[in-house]
Parts: sequence; C-alpha cells; structure tokens
Amino acid sequence: MSKLQLPNTKLFINNEWVESISGNKFKTFNPVNEELICEVSEGDKADVDKAVIAARNAFENGVWGTTMTAEDRGKTILKLADLIQDHKEKLAQLETMDCGKSIVSAREDIDFCVRVIRYFGGWADKIQGKTIPISSEFTSITKHEPIGVVALIVAWNYPLMLLCWKLGPALAAGCTIIAKSSEFTPLTALYLCDLIKEAGFPPGVFNLVSGLGSTVGNALSHHLDIDKISFTGSTVTGRKIMEGAAKSNLKPVTLELGGKSPNIFFADCDIEHCVNAAKDYVFSNNSQNCCFSSRFFVHESIHDAFLTLFTEKIKQIKVGNPYDESNHLGPLVSKQQFDRVLGYIEKGKSEGAKCHLGGSKHHHADGKGYFVQPTIFTNVTDNMTICKEEIFGPVVVILPFKTVDEVIKRANNTTYGLAAGIWTKDISLALNVSNKLKAGSVWINNYDNCLPQVPFGGFKQSGIGRDLSEYAIQSYLSIKAVTISHKTLHAQQN
Ligand code: NAD
Repeated sequence: MSKLQLPNTKLFINNEWVESISGNKFKTFNPVNEELICEVSEGDKADVDKAVIAARNAFENGVWGTTMTAEDRGKTILKLADLIQDHKEKLAQLETMDCGKSIVSAREDIDFCVRVIRYFGGWADKIQGKTIPISSEFTSITKHEPIGVVALIVAWNYPLMLLCWKLGPALAAGCTIIAKSSEFTPLTALYLCDLIKEAGFPPGVFNLVSGLGSTVGNALSHHLDIDKISFTGSTVTGRKIMEGAAKSNLKPVTLELGGKSPNIFFADCDIEHCVNAAKDYVFSNNSQNCCFSSRFFVHESIHDAFLTLFTEKIKQIKVGNPYDESNHLGPLVSKQQFDRVLGYIEKGKSEGAKCHLGGSKHHHADGKGYFVQPTIFTNVTDNMTICKEEIFGPVVVILPFKTVDEVIKRANNTTYGLAAGIWTKDISLALNVSNKLKAGSVWINNYDNCLPQVPFGGFKQSGIGRDLSEYAIQSYLSIKAVTISHKTLHAQQN
C-alpha cells in the first residue's frame, strides 16, 4: 500500500481546524502492526463548550436555522453523500488502517454511509406535521421542529458508518451537531469534516471534538445547552450517558448498546445454505459487531451435521492482514479488546465448555497484531459467562435445543435484546417465533441485513430509540402543537 495521506488531526469547530485549548494529543495505533499512526488533538470540556456555542449559534442565528429551506438542506446533504462516494477508497483505506477491518468490509461500510446519507437527504423536505380538526371553533396543527443542538457519540467498530447513521437524520431534521468519534478510531470522522465544508454546510452545523469518553463524552452528556444526545457503544457507557442527561437538563437520549444475539436453526433448514451464510456474517468486521450472533441454537436433530459442516467452513476462513482482499478475519481493534476476548475464551474453558475450534491468538507472519483464531465452543450451558456476556470477538457457542417453546425461552434469556435470526423453510413457524422474540431486529433466513429504510435498535438493555429509517428522524424533532381559535379571528375581523 502506498503511503496514505492522513486527514487534518485538529478539532473541527465552526468549519475551522483548531488546536485543542489544552494542546494535548492522544495517539491512534494500527492494530495490524501495533505501530503509531499519528497523534490527534485531544479535546476537553472547554473545547466542548466552544463547539456547543458554535452549534447553538448556527442553530439559532445562522443560515441553517433561519433562511435555508428544507429543500436546500436536502441538497446539501445529498452533496455530502456524493462527496463520500467520491472519496470512498481513501475513507476505506483509513478505516482499515485505524480499526483493522478488512478492506472489503471497509468499502462496504463506505457504500452504506453513502446510501444512508442519501436516504436522509431525501427526507429533509418531507418532514411534516399534521392538521387536527377539533371543532368549528378550533383547529390544531403540529409542527415538527428540529430539537436543536445534538451530540453524537459513537463506538470504534464501524467508525464512519455509525456516525452517518446519526448524522443523516440529525441533519435532515435541521439540527446542529457536536460529534465525538472513538479515541481508538478517530481518522475517518476527521476526514469527513473537510467533505462537510466542501458540501456547503454553513459554519457550526457540524463540529467534531475528538477525545476521550471520560472527558469529552462526559462533558457532552452533562452539558446544559445540548438538547439531545445519541450514543452508540457499550451498555455500561450507555448508563453513564443517561445519568449525565438526567443530572443536567434531562436531554432525551437515543442509546444503541450491546447484544448477545441468538440465531436459531430449525430442523428443516438448509444446512449448507445456513452454514455458508453464517461463515460470511459471523466473522465480518472481525466479529466486532453489536448484532453479532454469538449464540447458535441448533435443533438437536441437525446439530452434529451442522457442527461438522460449520467447522469445515470456518477452518477455511483466512485470518491475516486486512489489506489482503482474500483475508476474511483481521485483527481486533486494540490490545485491550484482544486481552478481553482471550480472557473470555479462558473463562469458557475454565467453566467447563469444550473449545471445539480455535481458542487462542492467531500468529500472524511477524508475530504482531491483535489476531484471534475463529473459535467455536460446544458443551456450553446457558448460565456460563461466554453464553451471557458480550464478547465482541470471533467466538461462537453452539447450543442444541429440542422444542420451539424451549428455544424461544432460552433465546430470550438475556438482559440484551438487539437482534435475532431464524432459519427455517416453515414461514408460519418463523413468524410465530419472531412474534415472541424480544429483539429489535429479527432476520428470517438472512442475518445482519441493515438497511437505510429499516429501523435498527434494541429491546431491553440493548438500547432506547432507533437509528436508521423514518423512526430515527422522529428522535431529532420536537413536536409543537399550535391551536388556533377561529372565533377570535372572526371577532377581530368584525
Ligand atoms: P464504549 O462504550 O466504550 O465507547 C463508545 C463511545 O463512548 C466512545 O466514543 C467513547 O469514547 C465514549 N465514552 C466512553 N466513556 C464515556 C462516558 N463516560 N461518557 C460519554 N462517552 C463515553 O464502547 P466501544 O468499546 O467503543 O464499542 C463497543 C460497544 O458498542 C459494544 O458493546 C457494542 O455492542 C456496542 N455497539 C452497539 C451498536 C448498536 O447499534 N447497538 C453498534 C456498534 C457498537
């Protein structure tokens, strides 16, 4: 790979690149070779305050919030989609370098960013309230107004994509934004800032304050002049965000959190088809995927055949440098994540599960990088740690089941409720089971199929609110009811 040009690494406030007030910087590393990529300006509370002033001004007094029509807002968003498309290869290369995902996945991510931003660009001039006829004396109308200044905080597993999932509806609704990327993967969000400026967004509409969760993230969730916060990350941090909102100005929160998603394979499923599909989605994004189907419930009558074929397929998965397009599984994002995943694998072994495949570090050519072998556990019980907690790495547990009622109960036996998969030729069985699963996304005979038009989010401790689709826009709006008395009008005219 030729030397990749890095983006500007300062903070982006009011369409300008500025140093952080403290002058501090944090480092971002390449998970393939563990080398330093670059240092990035590290924001703090005072920088957040500066960005909030810029966003507030753009919202209350700037062109964006005053004279720009919804149609022009839509055109600007669509222009951004075009620019992301034009810069696809650079963005994908940066994403792979910063978070270790395969270059093929990174390109898919950027394509999806384009589709999402374009989808929401189309919405900008279609956000409308209602007319509510009350009586001959009164009419009420509802106005769907942008909620105001919003903070968007995202995780490191899909750095640009998660940001676009929030950016699209926030911009379509007419909000102004302070974004914070993950300190592990700050580069593509930085690159996006120049595209935002080029697309013609007025100053202050989009601001990016890179930095740590404990400082920048904390300042955003506690800020008194931020009207809404949308977050993607762990359930632990989600609680802190909600607490910050509760302790400050009760700003509404959208939380996209963790999962421990079940994937149910019924006796009549086409095993070969299921296993081929699973091979692709299970290890995509290096298995660092919030809706990762880590609990495979396989009907006992097909369990052995399924396991044999699945193992065979998984053995074919190539682990290695994510820039090599033939590799399917790259390194985990950081040393911290690597240690965490290996810790869970050890816990599985010590609690009595059988490590059927993999189960340790994958030794890459030069011994560097945070690579973990694709790992399958069998002989797992539902109360084992590896069956309950989100591992966020390439570890699957295979759980045989006997009856429909049993599998529904066991699939729902989790504090999470992000996603679920059902595989069967019997569509009425699939629909009945989908009715009973407590999950925000249920995929029948497909999995992890996120679409711009379809809402995504969790039940239970997997989250609050939805990203993507028309539903996402609602959370960036305030509904104002205006009730008009006809009588007063008549009286004035007389
Ligand atoms: P994380 O919670 O550690 O960090 C997410 C973001 O929150 C980062 O930007 C981080 O800097 C910030 N943060 C950390 N502490 C904070 C605080 N006290 N206040 C405010 N912000 C703070 O999560 P992660 O390790 O980056 O991501 C992995 C997690 O994200 C997994 O649990 C995964 O399931 C979840 N995730 C969920 C979805 C979804 O759509 N439901 C999508 C992707 C990832």
